[in-house]
Amino acid sequence: MRMRNLVATLGVAALALTVGACGKDDSPTAGGGGSTTGSCGDLHKFTVASGADVTGSPTFTKMKARGHAVVGVKADQPNLGYKDANGKRCGFDIEIARMVSAQLGLDPDKIEYQEIPSANRETAIGGGQIDYYVGTYSITDKRKKLVSFAGPYFVAGQDLLVRKSDTSMDAGKTALKGKKVCSATGSTPIQRVKDEQLTEASNISEFKTYSECVSQLLDNKTDAVTTDDAILKGYAANAPDELRVVGKPFSTEKYGIGLPLTDKALRDKVNAGLESSFTDGTWKALYDETLGKSGAAATPPSLEKY
Ligand code: GLU
Repeated sequence: MRMRNLVATLGVAALALTVGACGKDDSPTAGGGGSTTGSCGDLHKFTVASGADVTGSPTFTKMKARGHAVVGVKADQPNLGYKDANGKRCGFDIEIARMVSAQLGLDPDKIEYQEIPSANRETAIGGGQIDYYVGTYSITDKRKKLVSFAGPYFVAGQDLLVRKSDTSMDAGKTALKGKKVCSATGSTPIQRVKDEQLTEASNISEFKTYSECVSQLLDNKTDAVTTDDAILKGYAANAPDELRVVGKPFSTEKYGIGLPLTDKALRDKVNAGLESSFTDGTWKALYDETLGKSGAAATPPSLEKY
């Protein structure tokens, strides 16, 4: 196991090398952390709301008293939730997290980030370790029993990342039988592979993060990485000579902002903020500065208020 982890780490380093040194953000609008390259560019500038209040929200009261938000994120998902070699964070999820903070009257530059892998999100939110979570977090009925969600603010679909020269899985999920498949523990994609028995149990490997699976793929230890297309496109954009996304999505993954289960006041407030970003052009600007660089398609989704 230790050996596997070591290989995984080296694989990620190799991937980072392939990626190249720094962002060539020469257009004025391109700075927002489009990290298909190794480093994050300038972040979006938000106006911090003055006098923001969320009556009846214990989470908001806690944040306000602290003076900043504590937000759970991913750190290895290019153009979504990414941390570069200098420790700078960027991506669409990071910008959504910053926007929410600004709308709550808290300086987005003061956010305290906590990296929480897919499997630990519900406990981190439920245990009060973070105020909210923004990290490719699909809204599902099962998760809704443990946490609440604002959103969706984006819709992705499960897809496959394969080695560029391998055409044997171009049919999509039906071609996975007999193939080695890697995904992240606690994610909806790995659950789907198991539930639908898309490949044999002995062919499934799971890691804490998707970047570990990408290392497995580059090292020929797995045949495919499966998760949301938005995530996979970021890895493919980083290693276009080695990897590609099959492009036959087979699920609907609605990304929500994870919130404490009973804090309806905060959910309503965050939904109102998302809604205004959909209509005033902010959402589109954030998208173009980040995820749009992975080549993923997009229009803002419809909110599901509850
Ligand atoms: N959106 C899926 C999920 O929430 C996969 C991505 C992830 O693990 O964050 O499980």
